Amino acid sequence: MSIQEEVGKRRTFAIISHPDAGKTTMTEKMLLFGNMIRSAGTVKGKKSGKFATSDWMEIEKQRGISVTSSVMNFPYRGYQVNILDTPGHEDFSEDTYRTLTAVDAVVMIIDATKGIEAQTLKLFKVCRMRGIPIFTFMNKLDREGREPFDLLEEIETELEIETYPMTWPVGMGKRFEGVFDRHNEQFVRFSGDEREEYIPYSELDQHPELTENPTYKEAEDELSLVDEAGDTFEIEKVLRGEQTPVFFGSALAPFGVETFFDTFIDMAPAPTPRKSTKGLVSPENEEFSGFIFKIQANMNPKHRDRVAFVRVCSGKFERGMSVTLGRTGKAFKLAQSQQFVASSSNTVEEGYAGDIIGIYDPNVYRIGDTLLTGKETFEYDELPQFPPEQFKKVTAKNVMKSKQFYKGIEQLVQEGAIQLFKRPYFEDYIIGAVGELQFEVFEYRMKHEYNVDIELTPYGERIPRWLKEDQVDTSLFDDRNMLVEDREGNKVALFKNDFSLRWFVDKHPDMDLIDLFEVN
Ligand code: GDP
Repeated sequence: MSIQEEVGKRRTFAIISHPDAGKTTMTEKMLLFGNMIRSAGTVKGKKSGKFATSDWMEIEKQRGISVTSSVMNFPYRGYQVNILDTPGHEDFSEDTYRTLTAVDAVVMIIDATKGIEAQTLKLFKVCRMRGIPIFTFMNKLDREGREPFDLLEEIETELEIETYPMTWPVGMGKRFEGVFDRHNEQFVRFSGDEREEYIPYSELDQHPELTENPTYKEAEDELSLVDEAGDTFEIEKVLRGEQTPVFFGSALAPFGVETFFDTFIDMAPAPTPRKSTKGLVSPENEEFSGFIFKIQANMNPKHRDRVAFVRVCSGKFERGMSVTLGRTGKAFKLAQSQQFVASSSNTVEEGYAGDIIGIYDPNVYRIGDTLLTGKETFEYDELPQFPPEQFKKVTAKNVMKSKQFYKGIEQLVQEGAIQLFKRPYFEDYIIGAVGELQFEVFEYRMKHEYNVDIELTPYGERIPRWLKEDQVDTSLFDDRNMLVEDREGNKVALFKNDFSLRWFVDKHPDMDLIDLFEVN
C-alpha cells in the first residue's frame, strides 16, 4: 500500500468530556465495533477495582485512575483508528491539553441532562484556538434531559461554534423513540436492542405506529424548524473547527452510537500537513518525521524507563530505524518501540502519519522534540505552553539534598512534567500545574527518581496573565497579585481571583494581559 493510501486511512482523535458524561462507555462501544474487546466493562476498571493496562504508575494504582493518556488503535471499516485517551476530571493535567496537539479531530461528549460543564469548556477553547474539528455526541438521551434546542444554543454561545444537528431526537427518557438521521435520510429506531433499526424516510408512511405518536409529531415539527432556520451543513467549516456536527443518542443503551461513529469516521479528516521551521510538511512526504507530545515515567515500576509518545507526521516509521533529533541534529537508532492498545502493549513494526508510537527514552527527549530522517533537519512548531491554574512554592526538606533538588526540578521541568516560575528578588521556586495530580506526580518522582523529599506550600488557585515586557511595573504587584517569571523570563501576573483580575483591568486599561488560552 502506498504512503498516500496509508495516510488516507488514518483517523486519529481524542474523546473529551466532563467526568461521568460517558467517555468510558463510548470508548468501550468503539472498541467493541473494532472487535478489540468482547464485552463492555473491560476498558477502565475504576469502578470495579480492576486496573486497566493504562494505569501504569504506582500513583495511578493508588487512585485508580489513569494519570496520563493512553492510546488505543484498531482497524474499522477499512480505516485505521487511533483513539487518544485523555483524563478528564480533577486529575486533569497539561498532558490533557498536549494530547490535543497530536490529534486530527475531537469527539466531545456532553451529558444531555447537564449540558456543558467547566472542564469541557476549557478543552474546547483549546480546540477552537487550534482549529481542531469537533464532533459532538449528546449522551444519555435514555434519560429525561434538557431540550435539544436549549443544548444546541448553549454550545453556540459558550463555545462560539456553529452547530449542525446531524441527527434529531424523538423524545427522551421513557418516551425516547429514536433519531432522525438527517445525513442518511433515515429514521433510526430505538428498540432497546443492540442493533439499530433503520427506516428510510421514504418508507416512514408504512409505520403509522411511529408517525402517529405525538412525541414523533412534535419532533417532526422541530425538525422542520431546524431544516428551515438552522445553519446549513458545510464540511469545510467543520474541518476548520467552525461548525460542529451534533449527534444525539445513548452510549449506554447503546443507541445512535453506530450512526454517530460511522458518520464521524467518514467525515473526520485524515492527517493534514503540519507547520515546521521549513514550512508545511506533508504527511505523504517519504521521509519519516514526528514529534513528542508526552513523556511518561515509570511505566514499569521495576524500571526507571520512560516512554516518549511520538505522533508520526510523515513518511514511514520502522522499528529499529535511525533518526535525527531536530533540536540537536544528532542521529541515533530507535531500539525499542511500543504501540499501546487498551488490552495489551504490542511492539510496533511500522507506522504512518497519525499513528502514535511509544519509544524508550534514555532521558534525552523533551516535550515538543522533533524526530526525523532525511538530509534536511527541521523542527515542528513548538508545543504551546498552557496556563497552569494552581501554584505552590517548592523547597527541599533537607537542605543537604539541594543538588539533587535542583537537578530533579530542572529535568522534570525540561521534560514538561510541571511548569516552573521564579519570583524576582525572592528567588522562590514556584511550580504551576493544571491540576492537583500533577503536583502529586511531581512529588512522587522527586522522591523516587531523585531521592529528594520536598515541601509544597500552596498558593492556591491563581489566574495567570502574561505581561508585555515594556509594560511591567513591579510596584503594581504584591502578595495578592503576585509577579513571577516563567522559564523564558517572561513576566507573569498571578491574580488571586476573578475579582482582583477585573479590578486590575479596570485600573490599568492600557496594559495587555495575555491569557494563554486565547493565544494557543
Ligand atoms: P466518564 O467518566 O466520562 O468516562 O463516564 P462513564 O462512561 O464512566 O459513565 C459515567 C456513568 O454514566 C456510568 O455509570 C455509566 O453507566 C453512565 N452512562 C454512560 N452513558 C450513559 C447513557 O447513555 N445513559 C445513561 N442512563 N447512563 C449512561
